[in-house]
Amino acid sequence: MKRWLLVLIIIPLFFLPIPSSPDHTGIYNTWSGLIWCSHEMACIHEVGHKLDDLAGWVSKSPEYQEAVTALGYEYFTENNPHGRDISFSNHTEAYAEIFTLSFGQEQNMHPSLRQFYDWDRASQLLEKYANEK
Ligand SMILES: [Zn+2]
Repeated sequence: MKRWLLVLIIIPLFFLPIPSSPDHTGIYNTWSGLIWCSHEMACIHEVGHKLDDLAGWVSKSPEYQEAVTALGYEYFTENNPHGRDISFSNHTEAYAEIFTLSFGQEQNMHPSLRQFYDWDRASQLLEKYANEK
């Protein structure tokens, strides 16, 4: 009987966006789609992950990866208006970071990458998560 109670308590925790380290400033839970973030830039980054997920992980498509590679890493370090510490540790992180570097605004993103982001959905999600921070 107690095991069932434990399971009932633990299962919902998998669906919450809970940071696993005190260094984390944002989390996107891929199971539930929920976001937790501590400040505006972190919120924009996590919205980037959610956009990627909702688009079927477009960051993993060869088309997206080729478009990023064509610009080169230097492009993103030179076009980094907020002095953000850029981490392109994998394609999904690159997708969210590039979205963050554009501050979630279509006009700030390089034209060759704009097609990979759903800008209507982006503005709805930023309204919900980032604008209150
Ligand atoms: Zn991330």
